[in-house]
Amino acid sequence: MPILNRDNVVIGVAQIINKKTGTHEFTAKDINVFRNYLTFCGLGLSNAQLFELSIQEYKKNQPTNMSSNTEIKNKTEDFSLLIRLKLLLNLARNLFREQNDLERLVHKITTESQGLMQCARCCVYILDRSIISNKLEDIHFSKGFDMIYGEEFKVTTNDFLENSRYAKIAYHVAATMETVNLNEIMNDQALSHLLTSNGDDTFELKNILCVPIMDSDGHVIGVSQVMNKLNGRIFTEDDVAIIEAFSVFCGLGIHNTRQYENVVRLTAKQNVAFEVLSYHVMTSEEDLQRVSQVSIPEANQLRLYSWEFNDMVLTDDETVLASVRMFIELDLSKKFRIPHDVMCRWVLSVKKNYRPVIYHNWRHAFNVGQTMFAMLTTGGMNVCMSDLERIGLLIACLSHDLDHRGTNNAFQAKVDAPLAKLYTTSTLEHHHFDQCIMILQTEGNNILQTLSPDDYKLVVRYVEAAILSTDLALYFRKRGEFQKLVEGNEEHWDDSAKKELLRGMMMTACDVAAICKPWEIQQVVAKLVASEFFQQGDIERNQLHVEPIPMMDRAKKDELPKMQVGFIDSICFPLYKMLADVEPGLNPLYEGCKRNRDNWEKLQQEHDKLKSLWSESASQETLRKIVEASKPVLQAKNLISSQSDSTTLLKVTKTNDENSSSSFSLPNKETKSVNREQQTTAITVPTIDPILISTIHANKGAIDTIRGQITELRNDVDELRTQIKTRKRSTANNTSTSRAVANQGTSQNLPIVPATPPTVNNRHSVSKSNVPNANPASFSHHHHHHHHLGQTGAVGRSSICVII
Ligand SMILES: [Zn+2]
Repeated sequence: MPILNRDNVVIGVAQIINKKTGTHEFTAKDINVFRNYLTFCGLGLSNAQLFELSIQEYKKNQPTNMSSNTEIKNKTEDFSLLIRLKLLLNLARNLFREQNDLERLVHKITTESQGLMQCARCCVYILDRSIISNKLEDIHFSKGFDMIYGEEFKVTTNDFLENSRYAKIAYHVAATMETVNLNEIMNDQALSHLLTSNGDDTFELKNILCVPIMDSDGHVIGVSQVMNKLNGRIFTEDDVAIIEAFSVFCGLGIHNTRQYENVVRLTAKQNVAFEVLSYHVMTSEEDLQRVSQVSIPEANQLRLYSWEFNDMVLTDDETVLASVRMFIELDLSKKFRIPHDVMCRWVLSVKKNYRPVIYHNWRHAFNVGQTMFAMLTTGGMNVCMSDLERIGLLIACLSHDLDHRGTNNAFQAKVDAPLAKLYTTSTLEHHHFDQCIMILQTEGNNILQTLSPDDYKLVVRYVEAAILSTDLALYFRKRGEFQKLVEGNEEHWDDSAKKELLRGMMMTACDVAAICKPWEIQQVVAKLVASEFFQQGDIERNQLHVEPIPMMDRAKKDELPKMQVGFIDSICFPLYKMLADVEPGLNPLYEGCKRNRDNWEKLQQEHDKLKSLWSESASQETLRKIVEASKPVLQAKNLISSQSDSTTLLKVTKTNDENSSSSFSLPNKETKSVNREQQTTAITVPTIDPILISTIHANKGAIDTIRGQITELRNDVDELRTQIKTRKRSTANNTSTSRAVANQGTSQNLPIVPATPPTVNNRHSVSKSNVPNANPASFSHHHHHHHHLGQTGAVGRSSICVII
């Protein structure tokens, strides 16, 4: 006879040869028993362990049973062993059928046991499985089942499990792992006392057979008890043999049931988690109602066919409607019979599963979707794409950055994110794909529901490959291969691997397509990308204490134009060039990219100029030009009256130390005789360090101090002048004195007078031509007190100069 497994598949053949008894022919009854046996055998074969055990048990019991069989037959027992064996086999079969519910299983066991053992009562105890030790005090029954002949099957109380005499015998059996047959050892000192305690149980115990139930590893997992053999008989050796064999099957049944229950529990847990997740994944009914009832705007109205499409003019709801419109325009909604509410719900759910990060949000995904749409339609790629590929690509684009966290793959690895443990390469991209599938599988979101299983699998494979290909690492790896195909003028793309490569390149082209947009859009997007990068860089620097790469380093934000040029040259340019070679309709992407490269390069050059402006040599050059351009004005202007000139003068003093020719020299009435050429040279070569000037400006306090010193000095000069005047009065004529007084008033309006002739090397020198009557000794005194200040006192018709 064939041996069948549970699915009725033949897994073996069994033969029995030469009937030994009766007519030496196999009867219909034999066939029935054999079939039953083989049912069990088939189940056993499905489980190698069970098979081994069943063979062992069969071998072990066979001789006894056979001899008993003859014996019993000879004794004309009304309950033949054959029937009992059949019952046992039925039970074994039932054990495996009922393995989804422990209680039902045990019910079956007790019912079958009663029939099998012809007893008045049957109990089954299940061990708390956390107990491994066989010590009596460590053993606890977690559950018990009790069935009295003619009464309801019931689950025992905890009190029964702890205090009943039957449970006590069961504990003993569990601990010793030995069968107890208490009609034979009624006088056993160790156990007989258990029979006397009665409690409120009115059942009158006459005899009891108790066996341990083992699992396939030989661990006790329960105890089975049969009590009071019917017709007043006792439990025989045969009974013991049968119940021992039976307990093995019970054990396997219980073990399997427990495993099954575990699986059920875990599955239930998983389902609960998925339910909770689905709730958050799914869009709200409210959003769905609002969106699904609006009529979808026309594609032209939305400018969906344009390379210059701009999402920023659309509201969030309009982006959802525009996405639905793309499916309609590509005729996918009709071909795949996607119900309108499912279509809307899916787009809304996808949108909902983008996080509000700076760049990798829904808007980015939406733009990538639109570019794919434009590539297929305006760009002409529709021609070589099947409906399944087109819907796969559109799904992939809208889903390709799902649940993006605003940080890249390297970051996930750096922070040891759970995601990075799950996927070591293309970490985020795998996650985006998983999210995409989860949304599709969520109730009411499956826009692929009408597809055949084969088509469904195919689209999912397209989506997976497409989303993974948005990992730029993969782009770099596959670009060379693609290049070869393009250079070889591949036209058919009929090989599935080649086609996948093409779809992957299209995905990358869509992902970075902002680089091809009009300059205004490109600038905004570039700033968004950079901001998100800088944010990651900030976290890396401040929290992870690692130096971010330049692209993510906020301190290098001025280098954005340079980095954009680099990005275009290394990634975008070759990509759009190849795609334009594949399909000339895609050339606008290449052209747009080229325009933006020029724009970024210009910005970079401006930035370089700006940078050089701040370098010292360049700023001196610039200043030289400025001064040269304003030469006549400078000559005419009276710098002395200007406050800012005081700072200039300070500088002049400083540079005088090193180079006298570099100082300012201003003509005044008294120095008209100074060589004109020398003056000009002095003005046109001003080596003013702009950094020093700005430093001085920033040090107003210091200037005020110096100014205070100047005022102090002037007072000293005044005092000195008075002294000179006083001295002169006694020696000189009156007219000279009166003129000196007049000039004195003028000099007081001029707090500082820079009048160092360029040829004078000594900063403390006194213009002797101006002070023909001065007393050198007096000046020398002041000179020594005010270290940085030279003075020129003048009397008579000359003015007084203070040179710093
Ligand atoms: Zn992306």
